[in-house]
Amino acid sequence: MKTRLSIRIVTIMMVFMTLVFAGVFTLLGLYIISRMGYNTPGDDAHPPFLILLFCASSVIGTLISVPLTRYFVIPIKDIAKAMDKVKEGDFEVRIDETQTSAELGVLVRGFNGMVEELGSIELFRKDFISNFSHEFKTPITSIRGFAKELLADDTLSEGQKREYLQIIFDESERLSNMASNVLLLTNLEHTTKLSGGKWFSLDEQIRRCLLLLERRWMEKELELDLELDEIYCEGDEEMLSHIWVNLLSNGIKFSPRGGVLSVRCYKADGDICVSVSDRGQGIPQDKIEKIFDRFYQADTSHQSDGNGLGLALCKRIAELAEGSISVKSELGKGSTFTVSLKDKAITHTESK
Ligand code: ADP
Repeated sequence: MKTRLSIRIVTIMMVFMTLVFAGVFTLLGLYIISRMGYNTPGDDAHPPFLILLFCASSVIGTLISVPLTRYFVIPIKDIAKAMDKVKEGDFEVRIDETQTSAELGVLVRGFNGMVEELGSIELFRKDFISNFSHEFKTPITSIRGFAKELLADDTLSEGQKREYLQIIFDESERLSNMASNVLLLTNLEHTTKLSGGKWFSLDEQIRRCLLLLERRWMEKELELDLELDEIYCEGDEEMLSHIWVNLLSNGIKFSPRGGVLSVRCYKADGDICVSVSDRGQGIPQDKIEKIFDRFYQADTSHQSDGNGLGLALCKRIAELAEGSISVKSELGKGSTFTVSLKDKAITHTESK
């Protein structure tokens, strides 16, 4: 079907171009003859001469139109072939941009760009599925193993039973958190704007988040160093609290026992900033860029305490709130995560 269609296109193009060239050459022939002073068929009818002239022009027209048609049609055939490959899932296919005319070059460049983009989305999807499956499989295997032990071994002491049940509880909680994070992240990927319009006290919200995590920083005997300016902020309160909880949890998790966790909230250059600093191990420079990727965990020793989704969530929420998140870290000294949000109070005053 496709071959027949392209043959039809080639034939129509060739016939059309041949007729155009034949017509042009016939008229040109007649003009030259009349200029040379010979009788033109118009003066004295010479049908065989006219036919001969037209035939000669048609031959010349064909000789020119064949390569010209090929020049225009072959790239179209290449594009059609490449599209078929993309349809079959091959995102490696590219069309040679140097072999096409300027007009088709734009189309070919657009096509190559589109396939490249599709390829990276596909890679991202495959990566996501494999990470997702791996992250889900590990706790499930652990839950299964300990549940089996509990069922099969009657000689387990009360202490051992409690220990196994605690592991099952922790792992199922990890699974549940991961499922919620994946769901939230997927929802946020399809969201273009957070709900806003609500004013709330940011410093109060941060204090509430710290209270929520009290058991964890108390367990680690951390000293809290807080400098929270009184700030009213407009935005999606619930979503923003996800950022603070994630950053504070990481700060606690990566702080050494008895360390200091510093939290600041202040206004600077028209922005509202929140920073969380710990004095933990820090992040190697070559890994800093990746820590905002889904499922990425730079530090394997804390792997079981998280799932590598927290910072990806923070970044997405900050983006949706028209803000940004940055990190400064030094190995052995600690890390500071800073979130900057537009100060809507200024925008509101300016627009009045
Ligand atoms: P996780 O659940 O593993 O903490 P995150 O997305 O929150 O996932 O963080 C990704 C990775 O970034 C972590 O696994 C860790 O390697 C690194 N990271 C995040 N916060 C800190 C921090 N405060 N100090 C050191 N490393 C950190």
